[in-house]
Amino acid sequence: MKSPSSEFLISFKKVARGFKSFEFGSFDNQKIVAFHRIIPDAPRVLITAAIHGNEKAGPLGLYSYVARNRHPNDLSIVLIPIINRYGFDNHARENEQDRDLNRAFNKPLAKDSTDSLEKLVMKLNPDVVLNLHEDGVHKGCYVYIGYEDQREDAEVIIKNASKYMTIEKGKTVFKDKCEQGIILSNIHDGRPKTQQTFETFLTNNNIPYFTFETSQLYSLKRRAAAQLAAIDSILG
Ligand SMILES: [Zn+2]
Repeated sequence: MKSPSSEFLISFKKVARGFKSFEFGSFDNQKIVAFHRIIPDAPRVLITAAIHGNEKAGPLGLYSYVARNRHPNDLSIVLIPIINRYGFDNHARENEQDRDLNRAFNKPLAKDSTDSLEKLVMKLNPDVVLNLHEDGVHKGCYVYIGYEDQREDAEVIIKNASKYMTIEKGKTVFKDKCEQGIILSNIHDGRPKTQQTFETFLTNNNIPYFTFETSQLYSLKRRAAAQLAAIDSILG
């Protein structure tokens, strides 16, 4: 029997007309599958989902995006619908070794499975990255940004997503200052550069990112619709 992640990726490949699939690296002995649509000399957008395997709305939002088969012709797009396949298959945030993969970057000496994702990013050198996540605690959606000049674009993401769920109203989210659903990551000054998130890795390489979070207190259908709204905000 095929695993849920295999089934999902096979189905994804079928509907993702206009994208080519490729494999890179592996986590827990399962290949990571990515999809790309390359336009020469166009800006490059990378979208990742399910680095935490139990956050299903991101993969579903991406599925809706590719199934619609309407893509910009002035952007190169690379999609990684499921980074943590073990977690996706087992409803787990962590991988098979019980590791939070988003705390496993920026460690060149530790031969971690996140190496392959780091290498892909260095090769692709994206102009922007959108990371799709979910939050099981907070009541609304919110987005992290790496740089202040991303705030206007972040406002568009939040506005579009707010058609499907409330905007997070808390003044802080996991100790980060949150304003109208936008969190300017304080990794430039507050936290050490060695913090082992993918976001820190991106900032260390001067790559702007949006990390969008939907509240899991909503139905999966609504969360996926909010994720699609965030994807559309970036891909226009
Ligand atoms: Zn997450």
